[in-house]
Amino acid sequence: MKNKTLTPAMRQYLEIKQQYPDAILFFRMGDFYEMFFEDAEIGSKILEIALTSRQKDVPEPVPMCGIPYHALSSYLPKLIKQGYKVAICEQVEDPKQARGIVRREVVQVITPGMILEPEYLETSKNNYLAAICSWGGGYGLAYLDISTGDFKATQFSSLDMLKEELNRLEPSELLAPKSLSLHFNPKHIVLASQPDEAILDLEQAQEILKSHFDIPSLGVLGLKDWPAAAISAAWILHYAEQGQKTILPHITRLQTYTLDEFMVLDSVTFTHLEVFRRWQGDKQWTLFNILNKTLTPMGGRLLRNMLLRPLKDVKAIKNRLTQVDAFVQTGLLRKAIREKLDKIGDLERINSRIVLGRAHARDLVALKNSLQMLPEVKQLLLSSPSMLHQQKGEQLDSLEDITQLISEGIVDEPPLSLKEGGLIKTGYHEGLDNLSKQTKEAKSWIANLEKKERERTGISNLKVGYNKIFGYYIEITKSQLKQVPEDYIRKQTLVNAERFVTPALKEYENFLLGAEEKRNALEYQLFIEIRERVAKASNRLLKVAAQLAEIDVMSALAEVAVQNNYVCPKIEEKDEIFIKEGRHPVVEQIKDTPFVPNDICLNEKERILIITGPNMAGKSTLIRQIAIIVLMAQIGSFVPAKEARIGIVDKLFTRVGASDALPEGRSTFMIEMEETARILHQATPKSLVILDEIGRGTSTFDGMSIAWAVVEYLHDLGGKGVKSLFATHYHELTELAQIKPKIRNYNVVVREWEGKIIFLYKLLPGGSSRSYGIEVARLAGLPPKVIERAFKILHMLENKEQERVDEERAQKYLQPFLFTPGHQKIVDRLRKLDPNRITPLQALTILHKFKNMI
Ligand code: ADP
Repeated sequence: MKNKTLTPAMRQYLEIKQQYPDAILFFRMGDFYEMFFEDAEIGSKILEIALTSRQKDVPEPVPMCGIPYHALSSYLPKLIKQGYKVAICEQVEDPKQARGIVRREVVQVITPGMILEPEYLETSKNNYLAAICSWGGGYGLAYLDISTGDFKATQFSSLDMLKEELNRLEPSELLAPKSLSLHFNPKHIVLASQPDEAILDLEQAQEILKSHFDIPSLGVLGLKDWPAAAISAAWILHYAEQGQKTILPHITRLQTYTLDEFMVLDSVTFTHLEVFRRWQGDKQWTLFNILNKTLTPMGGRLLRNMLLRPLKDVKAIKNRLTQVDAFVQTGLLRKAIREKLDKIGDLERINSRIVLGRAHARDLVALKNSLQMLPEVKQLLLSSPSMLHQQKGEQLDSLEDITQLISEGIVDEPPLSLKEGGLIKTGYHEGLDNLSKQTKEAKSWIANLEKKERERTGISNLKVGYNKIFGYYIEITKSQLKQVPEDYIRKQTLVNAERFVTPALKEYENFLLGAEEKRNALEYQLFIEIRERVAKASNRLLKVAAQLAEIDVMSALAEVAVQNNYVCPKIEEKDEIFIKEGRHPVVEQIKDTPFVPNDICLNEKERILIITGPNMAGKSTLIRQIAIIVLMAQIGSFVPAKEARIGIVDKLFTRVGASDALPEGRSTFMIEMEETARILHQATPKSLVILDEIGRGTSTFDGMSIAWAVVEYLHDLGGKGVKSLFATHYHELTELAQIKPKIRNYNVVVREWEGKIIFLYKLLPGGSSRSYGIEVARLAGLPPKVIERAFKILHMLENKEQERVDEERAQKYLQPFLFTPGHQKIVDRLRKLDPNRITPLQALTILHKFKNMI
């Protein structure tokens, strides 16, 4: 487009757009936000609005589309959710007063990680903007939920750990130097900014952090030895404040943490245990959803974060369990408190909007309605027989001053707009009340005028009316014109009537016009004052929000425990996991038939359980339920069992064999092996490993060999071995129990009845003797001929297998395979060797070498 064909507005547009090349620019023109050029093409497609063009008559018309300004909040999220950045450009001077083209400025840039408006956010999930960088051999991570003020930072020694943590957090926007960004799967992450390196150096980062938090050194934040974390945190502040034109006064805390404090659960384990998401089937049946009976958004987010970071400290876990127990014991109180909690909104997110000056009057009213519950919650806690509740009650600030301020100041149902009055209650401000009184009087004078003038003039059809252009008028029909009094001033002539004003009417009209403007301005000012006073209580409000979140989660966990019949686990430092009559908390809810509970015990002597049984027998349900029970116990929840003793687990790993792990078609045998490798490197004797059909993704012998070697390795690891549960249908593995003392065989039993299989879902000691695969195939409807033939072949194979096993038993020690890789080398060398071409001496040397290789 040539410049000379551009209108001044378009020239201004291009100048502004140049500063935000990576954002979609919403350019305010009157009552619309307009998009142009490529932005218009993207916008019209995603927002499903018509693409038109500006300056249609020029040779190259400009593509354009627009949305009405008041519909911004319904259109904007669609673009943000698709990962676009949107810059909102407003008219920053009154068009009536503008000389030439009206001045416009970008007032806000909205990106997926920088959203405050609740309607675009998931209630029980934090919406994080994260930043990462590497510096001095460390990997730094910081993340901020601007909508709640939650700001955290940490540092890792390996890229792998950083990746894991990011996968768990699922930030919606990531600031990453290009060199690091390559390592991340961008599925959940929007790479908003990819400069070559972190845009800050350590010194700049220090300055930003020191000045934001008003502190003398980084030591105060716990970042002294974490330069990479400091740079990441400063990057976030810099990005939010500079790039996004958002100041962050509500970010008054930066929490640092290390993963050592928590049980390690990698993101794959979360997936396999279906904690937050299911692979397939009805989405609602996740562990999170079963446990999430929280009633406030803060509670929901806290529960999610607790699941993301189960504890390792016995005392801390017991503390949570005691809190849950207190609510289990006090059923009526729990119900009463939960009724109150149900009426409490998102205090954290409202607080952020208040502090950032983005809350409207309805937000304040919602806040008031929530805060009104506090005195009652406090009272209920104080009245509880539990000491713990009483303590919580005493600690709870009931914020009555804030409730009172809003309740006295703001009307109960204020309009959305802040500038059109109707916000402030009568009795709050004398000046405003006077203005209102005078306005009312003026209006009532006008309302009475018709009657009064009819009486005075004797004109029975005299009318007082109002229109936008001429204002108030007195209308007299032509036939009555003779009776018009002298003080009437003619204003307008119609076909059948004339319109007049009187000096008094004019005066009232002028007063009303001015008064309304004055009142609106005053109301706005009073509203802002109230909002600022509430903002000053931000820290108090956030503390209350955190206390309520905790009460909410603990009472919710109690509610689930009572409803679903869970017990309080005994948490110990001991090296034991003992579960009596354990159940799978999700499967038991989905099934119509009763769930069969099972016992399990892992300790120093029984370290590894190899669980066999046919397909569909319930193996994976069982081993996952053990992992889930441990996870639940370590977040401080009751567990689905009759009795449970859980020795603290430091890391929980679950792996599912490739052919089972179908989600997203991503799992290949290679990935399965990579994941298994990670477990073998990271597991300790305090870990719990759940392996489901590992090795199945390759040929039988390969897979079995790998599975065998993995179990042996886990058995010997660290001298003590790793507590592991291994579900498999390689029956050969049951022989491991004969050579490794801490391995036990179990099987999930099935019975044959009238030639069919009945699944009993009961775990019993011993390996299962045969595969029921063919029976399952029969159940699935394979033709009888095929089934018959399969039985014959199975028989043949079993005979052969028996011969092989007998042969191996005949050897001194049990060894699953004929050749080790070392032996294979000898065979390979022998194959290549030609005895006729070597001397006896050479032959002797080679023989020696082979002997050494054995
Ligand atoms: P496997 O891993 O042995 O192939 P699964 O664990 O996938 O078997 O279980 C198959 C189905 O059996 C599950 O979907 C579930 O509906 C049911 N099931 C599993 N365990 C139990 C149990 N303990 N009680 C009742 N039903 C169960």
